[in-house]
Amino acid sequence: MINQSYNFATQAIRTGHRRTPEQEHGEPIFTTSSFVFDNAAQAAARFAGDEPGNVYSRFTNPTTKVFEQRLAALEGGESCVATASGMSAIMVICVALLQAGDHIVSSRSIFGATTTLFGKYLTRLGIETSFVGQTDVHEWKAAINTSTRMLFLETPSNPLSEIADIRGLAALAHENDCLLVVDNCFCTPALQKPLSLGADLIVHSATKYLDGQGRIVGGAVVGDQQRVGEDIFSAIRTTGSCISPFNAWVALKGLETLDLRMKAHSDQAMEIARYLSDHPRVERVYYAGLASHPQHELAKQQQSGFGGVVSFVVKGGREKAWKVIDSTRMLSITANLGDVKSTITHPATTTHGRLSDEQRAQSGISEGLIRIAAGLEFVDDIIADISRGLDA
Ligand SMILES: *Cc1c(COP(=O)(O)O)cnc(C)c1O
Repeated sequence: MINQSYNFATQAIRTGHRRTPEQEHGEPIFTTSSFVFDNAAQAAARFAGDEPGNVYSRFTNPTTKVFEQRLAALEGGESCVATASGMSAIMVICVALLQAGDHIVSSRSIFGATTTLFGKYLTRLGIETSFVGQTDVHEWKAAINTSTRMLFLETPSNPLSEIADIRGLAALAHENDCLLVVDNCFCTPALQKPLSLGADLIVHSATKYLDGQGRIVGGAVVGDQQRVGEDIFSAIRTTGSCISPFNAWVALKGLETLDLRMKAHSDQAMEIARYLSDHPRVERVYYAGLASHPQHELAKQQQSGFGGVVSFVVKGGREKAWKVIDSTRMLSITANLGDVKSTITHPATTTHGRLSDEQRAQSGISEGLIRIAAGLEFVDDIIADISRGLDA
């Protein structure tokens, strides 16, 4: 069982693994699609759910279970279910808990595919979404109607590090009989525990910092036993949006170094943000760790670190931004993040390229904006790589 008295770092390494009779030290990967029963009566009992135990890896798998128990412990949740990707985690929450006629209020500053899931696919199924500004609780309140069932956000936001007030929005959600769902991808439980601030469900893209080395695609939902352990689990086993045991194993090994890595990513990003703040060619830096960030105080209250993503606006618009990106020799030009390898992105023409000019302006995604996801290379090497194009 999960020992809640252990420190975070200890739980991240020790929770969930029950040794098999082989007495293995490392967690094994169970690459099996199905499980065998002692007799027909046991098979019947397992299928009926009258007896606990494995049946089929679309339902449960021992390797996946270690990842789930470990992540549940780290988030402080009763239950966790792993999914094929971060997007499938969000999808199964909606499939399991919403129905036609329901309404979602979501921050506008969410992952692009989540915007498409809500705005296009859920709309077709009769579930409407209103998008609001991340930071203004009054705007959220005004958007809630009698059909609203769920508030959804991601904090800090990508790429501008806007901070949502989790405690305030949890209170608003509960006053209106709604759930607050938080995508905790950018902070991970090493830096922020939304359940302890009142959120009901946590979404993860394990693809990012949980794995931490850019090797797999995976996801998870964490929350209470009824919603996650029963309702969402049931939706996953029926819809087939389960994770592969191998991917679950990579992610559970990633958790073992999560605490160390998130502190290191935050330190790296802080140094990069300070360097950029002092640079004459930089117009503005977006990083909640800087005292100049409009929500620095809120970030300090609900996060124990500020994470690895820093964005900044260079003077000279798209031309200069592309020059900075193309002058790097080490940083990877890719939209992924949460990797030990640092990445550099031009949001206006990639991750936010499909928005209209007006939507981009509204979201603050200017042509001079560059996003850096700080990896764990020696920080002076990262800064030198960014400075090549900046100083030119
Ligand atoms: C990447 C990401 C997702 C989607 O996760 P996948 O694993 O790519 O499906 C969702 N939310 C955030 C904040 C992300 O960065």
